Amino acid sequence: MNTQDKNVIVAKRAGFCPGVKRAIEKVLELEAAGKKPVYTIGPLIHNKQVTDMLSAKQITAIDSPLQATDKSGVLVIRAHGITPQFQHEIEHSGMDVVDATCPLVKHAQNIIAEFAAKSYHTVIVGDSDHAEVIGLMGYTQGKGTVVSGPQEARLLPHFDKVNVVSQTTQKESVFYETAEEVKKHADVCQISNTICQPTKERQKETIECARSADLVIVVGGKHSANTARLAVLCKELSSAVQHVETEGEVDEKQVLQAEKIFITAGASTPEWVIDRVAQRVRDLRAGII
Ligand code: SF4
Repeated sequence: MNTQDKNVIVAKRAGFCPGVKRAIEKVLELEAAGKKPVYTIGPLIHNKQVTDMLSAKQITAIDSPLQATDKSGVLVIRAHGITPQFQHEIEHSGMDVVDATCPLVKHAQNIIAEFAAKSYHTVIVGDSDHAEVIGLMGYTQGKGTVVSGPQEARLLPHFDKVNVVSQTTQKESVFYETAEEVKKHADVCQISNTICQPTKERQKETIECARSADLVIVVGGKHSANTARLAVLCKELSSAVQHVETEGEVDEKQVLQAEKIFITAGASTPEWVIDRVAQRVRDLRAGII
C-alpha cells in the first residue's frame, strides 16, 4: 500500500466512539468467557460488517427477553440505552443483564430525570425513532416532545418550564438554533447541551478538514444515523461527497480527479473498514489497481 500520499487524509477521530467501543468489547468479553448465548437488546451498532461478525459468534440481537431461546443467556443493553421502564422489565426477566449504556448517554438520561422531577417539560432535539431518543423519552415522566430542528420547534405549544436536551450525536448548530426557538415557547427555559464530547470533536475536525478537501469520503452504514448526519454535514462543506459502506463502493473517477481527499467515518464504523477504504483510495491514486 502506498501510505505516502499526503493528500489523502484520514480523520483522527474516524470510527468507533468510546461508547460503542466499550459496548462491543463487553459483548466480545462475554462471548469469549463462554457464557453463551449472548443477546443484545437491538443491534449493537448499525454496521453490517460488525453485525455479520457478531452473528458469526452467535451473538443475537433481540427486541425483548421473551425472544431469547435460552433464558440462561446474558442480555446486554447497548450503548444507546433504553427506557427505565424497559430496564426494569428486563431486570425482572430472570436473565443476567449487563448494562453497556454509554456513560455519556447516561449523563443525558440523568439530566432529563433531574429536571422532569422538577416538573420541567423535556424537548429532545433528535430523531424520534432513534433508539437513544426512545430511551431518553422514558426519563421525561411522560412530559417529553422530540423535535428534529427549529421548524418543528416553531409548532410547539407554550410551557411553564422547559428543559431542552439533545440526542448525543446531534449537530451543534442545529441544537442551538432549535433551543433558541424553544425559548420563545416557555417562561423558563433550561438549555442542556447533551451532545457528547467525542461527537463535538468529530464535528470540529470534520468542519476543519472537509472545507479544504476536493473530495470527502464518509465511511459507514447506510442505516447509521450518526454516519448519515456526518455525510450531511460534509455536503454542506464540500461539493464532492461519497458515502460508502465498503471499499468496493468508492467512485474511482472522483478519486482520480481530486487533489485533496478527506476520509472520515461515523461512530459505528470499525477501523478495519476505514483502513480498507483508505488503502483502496491510495492504491487507485498510485495506479496499483
Ligand atoms: S456517540 Fe457519544 S454518547 Fe453516543 S455512544 Fe458514542 S460516545 Fe457515547
